[in-house]
Amino acid sequence: LIQLFRPLDMLGFVYRSIRQGLVDMGAMFKLMDTAVEVKDRPDAPALVVHRPHITFDHVVFGYESDRTILKGLSFEVAAGSHVAIVGPSGAGKSTIARLLFRFYDPQAGRILIDGQDIAGVTQESLRAAIGIVPQDSVLFNDTIGYNIAYGSSAATEADAINAARDAAILPFIEQLPQGFETEVGERGLKLSGGEKQRVAIARTLVKNPPILLLDEATSALDSRTEQDILATLRRVSRNRTTIAIAHRLSTIADADRILVLDQGKLAEAGRHSELLARGGLYAEMWTRQAAEREQEADAAE
Ligand code: ATP
Repeated sequence: LIQLFRPLDMLGFVYRSIRQGLVDMGAMFKLMDTAVEVKDRPDAPALVVHRPHITFDHVVFGYESDRTILKGLSFEVAAGSHVAIVGPSGAGKSTIARLLFRFYDPQAGRILIDGQDIAGVTQESLRAAIGIVPQDSVLFNDTIGYNIAYGSSAATEADAINAARDAAILPFIEQLPQGFETEVGERGLKLSGGEKQRVAIARTLVKNPPILLLDEATSALDSRTEQDILATLRRVSRNRTTIAIAHRLSTIADADRILVLDQGKLAEAGRHSELLARGGLYAEMWTRQAAEREQEADAAE
């Protein structure tokens, strides 16, 4: 894929911005099953964001007309806060991410960022404001530096170094004989799952997005690496409006707010301790996952 887009570099700004869109498409592989074309209005202005506040206002959405997935969903994500979305498989968690990124428009209701309906702004400006850290990071057969700067046409070397530092991968890169010039991927250096994830985090940080969308991996990393990565994500999401889609509740227990989605509706919302005390769906999921964790720990002994 990357080879295909490389010659476009020479054609300057227009193609670079197209390419930037494609990067995010790449990062959304996991979130996206079908590509549906959403068009900008001819006179659409750019999204203006400072400290973004996100609003889902009675959002109704279905992929097919005979099956509604989100059934009038409303919630708010306060500027700079960390909100986690949890819920049973198929509840619509990834659909929320796809709508926020505007792969689709809602059939009713609105999604607002700082009061601006995202259906009315340019997709380019919307996508530039949102950084995605996907479940499984795709690395290109190229240098580490290229993998980090990919998608941010204006990124300088200093930006890449800062992003690598923030993603806690700089010491690793610096001890490689060829540093940022080290080839990675199939023909180059094989990176571990955790290292790959850190390169993906650095790639997102180069964009310096005010909104972070974290799509949690369902498995993959060992628990020590996972804890390290989570600590990094917690650090980089400070001061950014963050939405985390989570499967394992243990990873989001410290979120400012947890939204429990069930069959396209908000079943519960609150902090971890509040939701546990409530004894509802979240408490039930937590108890079940805690039992699973214990079983896994026993099996590992
Ligand atoms: P999981 O925890 O399993 O990842 P989720 O809560 O993220 O689930 P979604 O991926 O948002 O769930 O899917 C919600 C529903 O929408 C599911 O029933 C799914 O089958 C359906 N769905 C998802 N993508 C499409 C699509 N492209 N076309 C039709 N239906 C879809």
